[in-house]
Amino acid sequence: MDSDAEALTNLRNSLKYLHKLKVSLHSLFESLANGPSEGQENNAYLRGLQQRLLTMDNAFTDLENSGNMLPTSNPAPSTNTMSIPLEPEDENYEIFRQLTNCYTWNRRVQEYSTSVHSFLKENQLKRTAPSTGSLAKRARKASLDTHNMQTTSVDKVILQLNQSLNQKHPETSIQIYRPMGMSTVLLVTIGKIMKVIMVFRGLHTERIIVKGYGEAAQHENGQVDMWSESKYKVFQLVTHCAQAAILHFHSAVFPEMALYSLVQWLHTYTNLFSDCCNYCQRILNNNLPPTGRGFEKVPIRYHPQCASSQAR
Ligand SMILES: [Zn+2]
Repeated sequence: MDSDAEALTNLRNSLKYLHKLKVSLHSLFESLANGPSEGQENNAYLRGLQQRLLTMDNAFTDLENSGNMLPTSNPAPSTNTMSIPLEPEDENYEIFRQLTNCYTWNRRVQEYSTSVHSFLKENQLKRTAPSTGSLAKRARKASLDTHNMQTTSVDKVILQLNQSLNQKHPETSIQIYRPMGMSTVLLVTIGKIMKVIMVFRGLHTERIIVKGYGEAAQHENGQVDMWSESKYKVFQLVTHCAQAAILHFHSAVFPEMALYSLVQWLHTYTNLFSDCCNYCQRILNNNLPPTGRGFEKVPIRYHPQCASSQAR
């Protein structure tokens, strides 16, 4: 505290001497500008100037002495990195900027990973049943069974699904293909909007591709094309959303219910090109219709950009 008080007194004195210097300098220039007053002898005028110069010289010496007693160093920084911005070299300043960016980036990654972790905890993406209790045993058994179902059993489920769909949505049709023996491939046509190719293992949807109504979903030999994606951006985005829907509607215990829900959900694309986005209330955004669908009972329609800007 003593050294602080001493530094403060020095600073106060320095300011006082600076003020004195300023006043004497002003007086000197004023005297020089006005010249000798009326009736004043030249010698008297010169003595007056000499006196002012001496006053100025004294004030300057006092200021210099007082200034030398002031602390020269800055207060000690709390960390080494804090002193980097004080570095006059430009190249070292760049290191500080990079460090700051790196720190910000790291903090964001931590924030994002925390929110993703809590989100994933609520929405299990595992395609197996939970491993506790008798329900788990039942689920495991059901899961194994539904993965290796006989084709006749699969056909039966799909026939029921088709009948149910025909009543509610006659514009939706389902065709069954078996290009490689056991595995089932469904070609679902949603109105005159799109064709959906679904590849199954037992009754579980393994792969889904959405194409435009006018695009070829079959090869020349009549086999379903299970691999190539749509050439249109709009259906590529719908495919992306449908892949998320497979995980959302998956059920190890009730796969037929999962399949029914998935096809029902696909049917929400019937008005793909005339539905408005629930966020921006427009049909087109970036020349694309709302390709996203929520998984609610009445799914929301949205542009992926609108949903991501909403989430921020
Ligand atoms: Zn929108």
